[in-house]
Amino acid sequence: MTDSRTLFAKAQELIPGGVNSPVRACLSVQSEPLFITRANGSRMWTVEGRELIDYVMSWGPMLLGHSHPAVVEAVHQAVDQGASFGAPCQAEIELAEMLVAALPGVDMVRMVNSGTEATMSALRLARGYTGRNKVLKFEGCYHGHSDAFLASAGSGVATLSIPGTPGVPEAVVADTLLAPYNDLDAVEALFRTHGDEIAAVIVEPVAGNMGMVLPQPGFLPTLRVLTQRHGALLIFDEVITGFRLTYGGAQNVFGIVPDLTCLGKIIGGGFPVGAYGGRREIMSRIAPCGDVYQAGTLSGNPVAMAAGVATLRELGKADYMDLTRRTKALAGELKSVLEERGVQVQLNCMASLFTLFFATDPVTDFASASKADAVTYASFFRQMRDAGVALAPSGFECAFTSFAHTDEDFEKTLDACRTVHF
Ligand code: PMP
Repeated sequence: MTDSRTLFAKAQELIPGGVNSPVRACLSVQSEPLFITRANGSRMWTVEGRELIDYVMSWGPMLLGHSHPAVVEAVHQAVDQGASFGAPCQAEIELAEMLVAALPGVDMVRMVNSGTEATMSALRLARGYTGRNKVLKFEGCYHGHSDAFLASAGSGVATLSIPGTPGVPEAVVADTLLAPYNDLDAVEALFRTHGDEIAAVIVEPVAGNMGMVLPQPGFLPTLRVLTQRHGALLIFDEVITGFRLTYGGAQNVFGIVPDLTCLGKIIGGGFPVGAYGGRREIMSRIAPCGDVYQAGTLSGNPVAMAAGVATLRELGKADYMDLTRRTKALAGELKSVLEERGVQVQLNCMASLFTLFFATDPVTDFASASKADAVTYASFFRQMRDAGVALAPSGFECAFTSFAHTDEDFEKTLDACRTVHF
């Protein structure tokens, strides 16, 4: 029988860092990845046969839990009819209808294959539509790995302390303006200087890539007012928040309608799907009805669409309030257990997302998130994993719960936390 260590050694010979996405390598938690063979509900099993309670949930998509029977069945049925047609199929309309019905900011939607493609394409559209080049993003927010967004990004870029990224021409990021999350003075100052050059403000309405950070009251409404005043588009990157905060997105929760919305993760039910949508007038600028080009061989893939439709159908029946309440209780108890062990913890929590920051002050932006103690988090991660609980291999990420997590899972997670010491 093989084991994760042997597989990781082999993978490192063949794949840079042994992984196909950097944070998976577990570098910042001074550990190595466990290779997974199977996942069901809230659990994953490693090649060694170890069972883990999963709080990564494929970084968000698996809100129903792994291998939900309705999704598995829909995928089996779809794949039996053919993996990809490169021609329209009915499931694309079904998923589009569900997204349009659920999201106030979305009259029309274009499917792509990842969150990165969604944000990259939304930015191109915003630039094409406004005839302007600059984009304002927030420090610590992550919008995928396209060039324009790799300035002061969160997620793996933050985890690995990569300052900007070689390979991204300076001329490209010169059009990316940065402000601290929740800092309206900084945003206003940028609009004063560059007001007529800014094509769009892009924001994670609840940030999830510097750990979880909530928008302060007034932050999102003021972004809406400022963008409107200056003729810029407001893009909500709801790749994490879409269908996680509620059936719909942060735009439903906060009552703010963005011009463009980016989606991914949950709407593909674990398959490679992204989407961007918005006002009809703006979306009509996309080829072939408009002049802004964007395309994809596998976009609207029938198997992925079937997974997305089945996922949203199930989520339409799900009790989000109950999961919110249970997640909040779990996160609060974890915080108490850790504090009993003498470490200071800041808890940010909303819906089925939370981050425990090993920090002394409240975390409201990237600067305060960066003060969290990465060494303590690394130790926490390793001890929890040894005790059968898989947390994100970086303190700059969220913990994700799912509708498959049971009270027993939460009890076991708390028991694991009680064995941790620093
Ligand atoms: N936007 C946000 C808010 C994300 O969290 C992510 C990925 N974690 C992306 C965009 C990029 O999505 P993908 O990894 O599917 O390209």
